[in-house]
Amino acid sequence: MSDTLRLIRRSTWPLTQLGRAAFRFVFPPSCPLCHRDVDLEEPRDLGQRIAPSLCDQCSTGMLPPPSRRCPRCGLPVGPHARTDDGCPHCRSQKFRFRRVIRVGLYDDLLRTACIRAKGTAQSPLAAALANLVWVQEREELDAEQIEVVVPVPRHWTRRLLRPHHAAETISRVLARRLGKPHGRGLLHKIKWTPDQSDLSAARRKLNLKDAFAVRSRPRLLAGKTVLLVDDILTTGTTANECTRALLRAGAAKVIVAVIAVVPPSSR
Ligand SMILES: [Zn+2]
Ligand SMILES: [Zn+2]
Repeated sequence: MSDTLRLIRRSTWPLTQLGRAAFRFVFPPSCPLCHRDVDLEEPRDLGQRIAPSLCDQCSTGMLPPPSRRCPRCGLPVGPHARTDDGCPHCRSQKFRFRRVIRVGLYDDLLRTACIRAKGTAQSPLAAALANLVWVQEREELDAEQIEVVVPVPRHWTRRLLRPHHAAETISRVLARRLGKPHGRGLLHKIKWTPDQSDLSAARRKLNLKDAFAVRSRPRLLAGKTVLLVDDILTTGTTANECTRALLRAGAAKVIVAVIAVVPPSSR
């Protein structure tokens, strides 16, 4: 670094610090879910540039009690359950993705946060929830050696009506955290379909048949481990159909990451 540059950096540093302190005084960082002020310490403050932090009370309230989970579908299992080929909930399902990484179940405060994160102008909340996946599941994500991150896409007509898309915000934050390319625009939803939540499991499969596609065989996917990101996972039909399209386009394997998994009793 040149002496001039070093001098400029040194002389502007106190101003930057002062500016940041003044900005925080006027706009104190607040939790994007409950809007309480968040007292940020320096290491978390650095992360704040990627995604806002939830307050300790909200983060703690969303984390599930520690329990064993099925790696294939993400649902909790008993302490002695066999999970090498799935669990009683998912063993009969033909999942094309390898496993599901999630924060918790679609219940209580996590459910409230997921619903709210879908709303217009709620990208700070979606980003904060993505950060929670990163903080909580970092070891699991690192172990999978992800090479590219892809959001579950929407049909262009829905994008037109509502520009904010929670899955895309979550995947962007995870891609930045992992330091891997964000493959937004690689996977497309090519068929308009009615909302999955109103349909039975059988109708869901039919509804999404051939609904997703990768328009070419991009080099970004060839032989790669893909992290497919959505906000919630219900029966796994959407993730399965997206995985089918990614594998067809040359991806080696697909891992799914979501904020929450819907328990069978709520489907
Ligand atoms: Zn909060
Ligand atoms: Zn399972």
